[in-house]
Amino acid sequence: MKSECFGCSACVSSCPTQCIAMEQNQEGFFVPKWVAKDQCIGCGKCMEVCPMEKSSLEPMGEMKGAFLFINRDAYDRNLSSSGGFFKALSDVVFELGGVVCGAAFQENFMVGHKCVQNKDEVYPLLGSKYVQSDLGNVFLEIQSFLQQGRYVLFAGTPCQVAGLKNFLKDVECKKLLTVDFICAGVPSQKVWESYIKECHQGEEIRYIQFRYGTKGWWEWGLRVQYAHHEYWKENRMEDPYLRMFLENISINSYCYSCKYREKRKYSDFYVGDAWNINRIRTNMDDDRGITTVFVNTKKGEEFIEKIQNAHCFEISLEEALQYREDLLHGKKIPDERKRFFEGLTGEGFARAVQLCLNWS
Ligand SMILES: Cc1cc2nc3c(=O)[nH]c(=O)nc-3n(C[C@H](O)[C@H](O)[C@H](O)COP(=O)(O)OP(=O)(O)OC[C@H]3O[C@@H](n4cnc5c(N)ncnc54)[C@H](O)[C@@H]3O)c2cc1C
Ligand code: SF4
Ligand code: SF4
Ligand code: SF4
Repeated sequence: MKSECFGCSACVSSCPTQCIAMEQNQEGFFVPKWVAKDQCIGCGKCMEVCPMEKSSLEPMGEMKGAFLFINRDAYDRNLSSSGGFFKALSDVVFELGGVVCGAAFQENFMVGHKCVQNKDEVYPLLGSKYVQSDLGNVFLEIQSFLQQGRYVLFAGTPCQVAGLKNFLKDVECKKLLTVDFICAGVPSQKVWESYIKECHQGEEIRYIQFRYGTKGWWEWGLRVQYAHHEYWKENRMEDPYLRMFLENISINSYCYSCKYREKRKYSDFYVGDAWNINRIRTNMDDDRGITTVFVNTKKGEEFIEKIQNAHCFEISLEEALQYREDLLHGKKIPDERKRFFEGLTGEGFARAVQLCLNWS
């Protein structure tokens, strides 16, 4: 099986004999593994669809235009990570009888993708979850919905979108809409599970929000709601999980040199937090979240026109890209990464953090 892999699951979804399955590697990141090697018929489909292998996967376009986006529904915006673009687009897709697929918390607060078919079910999909999402069987479900002639909106990391596009290369995709985002990288499910078990032990967890702020959008942190009280650190860097993520220590090894940080895109929309807002528009920030939306395709242009109940301000690509080093550049691998994952494998999350930062 492959040594370089960002876990998009396209290979597993395309295997006609199910002789491979996604499993976690030692660091807890998803990779394909043999489950029945003797059933492999050597058809090569798994290699054909792999975006790591395939140089012929054509980007769908290059950023054509950019918008600053604010969903006018305060509730929707509040549950989203920035301006609530994804929710507004999902409303359009549901109006057309479509299906929406994104990342939600699942059993024991692990993160996985799911497809939902109506507006009431979409709320768990809103908001960023800073964990590698388990794609399960959603590529196969999406294929089936498209074959039934339904619209499908898929949101995921740029590498997941590339995997999906490769997997669907022989399927009619006129009704597929894809959204990916400026991606800082993802920690593994093992890191997240170990953090939850060790740092929230003995508590009955009811709700988790990665991007929660009592003082507004800029001052966000991880909130864990227990049965009778809550965990919340005013300074997000005091939470060890967020600190390991934001210092790029706990992310997948492939994320440091991610090839999707470029202007050519595989999605219809590429979105991110408008962290440069106060440097490009001095009177717009109300401290409640704004999404920067890059539109990459003609289909994207048509769909953004359909969105209602939103403030959508067109800006130039140059402005949108200004002060956004996170958009196009790779990251340096921190010296602590190796120690962190050795500690995690040997003794668990708390020890891994201690080894990295001398935390007590
Ligand atoms: C792991 C991660 C890293 C990010 N890094 C940056 C960054 O460095 N800079 C930046 O500007 N923006 C980053 N973002 C994007 C940003 O946080 C917002 O998602 C984006 O601004 C869109 O906001 P929204 O309000 O329109 O939609 P939201 O409702 O906040 O979310 C958009 C969609 O993202 C999907 N999603 C959430 N978590 C995951 C996940 N783990 N895997 C796959 N899909 C997921 C959700 O299903 C939802 O459909 C990151 C998001 C994630 C998940
Ligand atoms: S070669 Fe074909 S049968 Fe074998 S693992 Fe790949 S997709 Fe499955
Ligand atoms: S298709 Fe995706 S999951 Fe499979 S090997 Fe390639 S990158 Fe990894
Ligand atoms: S940084 Fe790149 S490789 Fe890592 S999860 Fe994001 S898109 Fe995938």
